[in-house]
Amino acid sequence: MAAACIFCKIIKGEIPSLKLFESEKTLAFLDIGPLSKGHSLVIPKYHGAKLHDIPDDQLSEVLSVAKKIAVAQDLKDYNILQNNGRLAHQEVDHVHFHVIPKPNEQEGLGVGWPTK
Ligand code: IMP
Repeated sequence: MAAACIFCKIIKGEIPSLKLFESEKTLAFLDIGPLSKGHSLVIPKYHGAKLHDIPDDQLSEVLSVAKKIAVAQDLKDYNILQNNGRLAHQEVDHVHFHVIPKPNEQEGLGVGWPTK
């Protein structure tokens, strides 16, 4: 845990979040600035800024949790995205995997995703 880390504060319950999944190693919650409806983040509870900072055993559930979210949300089209470093657009220095639904334009589910 890192005292100043926003996501460590979410893990500790010091900052509220809308949790989708929690286990000993992994937490998933809704993104506060969603690119589309249902955009969520899956994080290892182990604190590390970049993917290579996290021991393999602390990452073992992350993709299966992302998959569970995609199944639970009945997603057909979606992105799993993980940024490392400022040049790669990482803003929060605690490893996180985005699960970003790709909205169906006919259903109008988007809240900021480019439609063209
Ligand atoms: P990055 O650009 O890959 O680092 O993405 C960081 C993500 O964290 C962004 O999509 C933010 O909207 C999200 N975020 C930042 N603070 C919070 C929070 O307190 N709760 C939930 N999501 C957050």
